[in-house]
Amino acid sequence: MGAVRKFWDPEGERFGLPTWPWKWAPAHYKTRDQLVAMGLRPHQPIAAQVMWDSKRGVRRAYLFDVALAGPPKARSAAQVASLEAARRKRRICPTCGHEQPYYLSTALKECTTCADGLAAAA
Ligand SMILES: [Zn+2]
Repeated sequence: MGAVRKFWDPEGERFGLPTWPWKWAPAHYKTRDQLVAMGLRPHQPIAAQVMWDSKRGVRRAYLFDVALAGPPKARSAAQVASLEAARRKRRICPTCGHEQPYYLSTALKECTTCADGLAAAA
């Protein structure tokens, strides 16, 4: 059980954070992905970690106390407006200045009409 003892540090004396070997952490500690899968977000600093050996060296995953996690923060009206503005910007062709009903291709960087060279004719 050397691998277990190696990362057994519930007080965080050696690793600076309460640490357990992979799969040994108390059940109330979850990774961010686990919280997200439960519809929660960590509204808190990192509480603990799990560590394990892999072929690429020591790996770690940070853990959060599920009791301190909560639902995702609701977006404010200003955030919603700014997201909408960013989406709208992706539909406005810089060449002809028209807002298109689709997102501009990131490869073409203009609307399909301009990309086809038809803007001058129109
Ligand atoms: Zn255009």
